[in-house]
Amino acid sequence: MKIPTVEILNVPFINTTLNDFTNQLLNEHTLKSKKAFIVTANPEIVMYANQDSDYMKILNKADYITPDGIGIVKAANKLGKPLPERVTGFDLMKDLLEKADEYQMSVYLLGAKHEVIEEAKVNIEKTYPNLKIVGYHDGYFDWETNKVADEIDALKPDFVFVALGVPRQEKWISQNIDRFQKGVFMGVGGCFDVWAGAVKRAPEFWQKVHLEWFYRLINQPSRLGRMMAIPKFMMKINKQKAKERR
Ligand code: UDP
Repeated sequence: MKIPTVEILNVPFINTTLNDFTNQLLNEHTLKSKKAFIVTANPEIVMYANQDSDYMKILNKADYITPDGIGIVKAANKLGKPLPERVTGFDLMKDLLEKADEYQMSVYLLGAKHEVIEEAKVNIEKTYPNLKIVGYHDGYFDWETNKVADEIDALKPDFVFVALGVPRQEKWISQNIDRFQKGVFMGVGGCFDVWAGAVKRAPEFWQKVHLEWFYRLINQPSRLGRMMAIPKFMMKINKQKAKERR
C-alpha cells in the first residue's frame, strides 16, 4: 500500500501515524523481505536539503520520510495539509525493536563511538530479549573498503539502524542500499547515545508539551547554532503560505 505524502519545502512527508507506519514496514517490507530506506526529517534537515542539492537527491532516494518533530507537524497545519502526528526517529526505532522482539527478528546496529554502541547493544538486548542483534559496528570505519557493508550483506538482518549523524547516515545508506537484498534501513542520529544512557531523552513532561527541543538545548547549549535553522524554517513556511494564497 502506498502511503500518501504531504510536501513541505520540496520534501515529501508520509501522511500517517506512527502505529500505521510501523505496521506498514512490517507487512510490506520485513515480512516480504523487501528493502526500505527511511529518513526521519526535522526542520533542520528540510533546511539543509533545500541548501544542498546532493542531500536533496539522497532524500529523493528514500522510500519514506517521516515528520520528526512538532515543527514539521505545525508547518503542515499552517500550509493547510495537516499531518496526524510526529513520527520521531527514537519512537520509530523503539516500535520497530518491539516488533523485532515479538517476531524474533534480526537487527544490526551501526554507528556511534565504540563504548556507546557496546552499551547500547547490552541495553537493547536486556529490554528486548527475543530479538537477535546479529552484528554491530561503531561509526568510525573506512568508507572506502566498506567491510561493514560486506558484513551486513552477509548477515542479511531484518533491521539496520544507522547512527552516523546527519547527513552521513543518509549518505551511507543511499550509497550502499542497492547492494543489499533485504532489510529496513533507517538513520537514527543520536539514538544509540540514548540507549547507552550517555544522553538522556527529555522527561515525558517536556515531550508532552512539545518542548523536548528546549530541554535538549538547556542541557546541550552547543545545539544553539543548529537550532537557528528552526526560525528560518518557519519564516520559509510563512513565505510559502503567502505565495500559495496569491
Ligand atoms: N557519529 C559516528 N560517526 C561519525 C560521526 C558521528 O558514528 O563519523 C555518531 C556520533 O558518535 C553520535 C551520532 O553519530 O553517536 C550522532 O552524532 P551527532 O550528534 O553529530 O548527530 P545528530 O544528532 O546531529 O544527527
